[in-house]
Amino acid sequence: MRPLGILGGMSWESTLSYYRLLNQGVRERLGGLHSAPLLLHSVDFAGIAALQQQGDWEAAGRQLAVAAQGLERAGATALLLATNTMHKVAPAIAAAVDIPLLHIGDAVGQALQRQGVTRAALLGTRLTMQEDFYRQRLAERFGIQVMLPDEQRMAEIDRVIFAELCQGRFQDSARAFYQDCLARLQEQGTEVAILGCTEIGLLLEGADAALPLLDSSELHVAMGLEWLLAGSQGG
Ligand code: GLU
Repeated sequence: MRPLGILGGMSWESTLSYYRLLNQGVRERLGGLHSAPLLLHSVDFAGIAALQQQGDWEAAGRQLAVAAQGLERAGATALLLATNTMHKVAPAIAAAVDIPLLHIGDAVGQALQRQGVTRAALLGTRLTMQEDFYRQRLAERFGIQVMLPDEQRMAEIDRVIFAELCQGRFQDSARAFYQDCLARLQEQGTEVAILGCTEIGLLLEGADAALPLLDSSELHVAMGLEWLLAGSQGG
């Protein structure tokens, strides 16, 4: 197998599922005592979140680029940046290493394309929903038109991510609110919703949603698994 590096801790709640899902995937594919060869650099998310607030993307990109270089030196053959939002600085990270950064937006875009979907709702942080780095990639590379909740709902979705989900709080009130957002988007003619934040799948796991859900973290893990297993026996 090809060792995979994870830039995680953003938040560690979802990095934990990356770790579990990657290992489960290897077990399913190779069986026995096989497990995923992984290298993890897990940051202190408070520092990264502060840089997000300050809009200091240069510093954030630099910090993650240095972490990526460490993973490369330690033997990682490709990288997963385990957050949608921080893909805003994906170009700075990719430029700092010689190994590929497996982009979460491509994992999502490819899945939508496979399903023949061209219009999808997007739930994520305010940055992911509103800025270009994510939507533009989906539009330009995969022809996906992104539908967003209204302003007020976007603000609440963002608040819940940072004040609750990233702090390990998964409450019924948030679940009901996200379900309501999905129902509204369905009324507006959306066929499918992208969970474009790696913690939302932890909240809505197994819940009845108005729309079929595409979980960015699950798709990203699947992309990582494909890399990891390429060339391995049974891979
Ligand atoms: N994990 C989240 C995401 O997928 C939000 C945390 C962050 O801002 O990185 O976007």
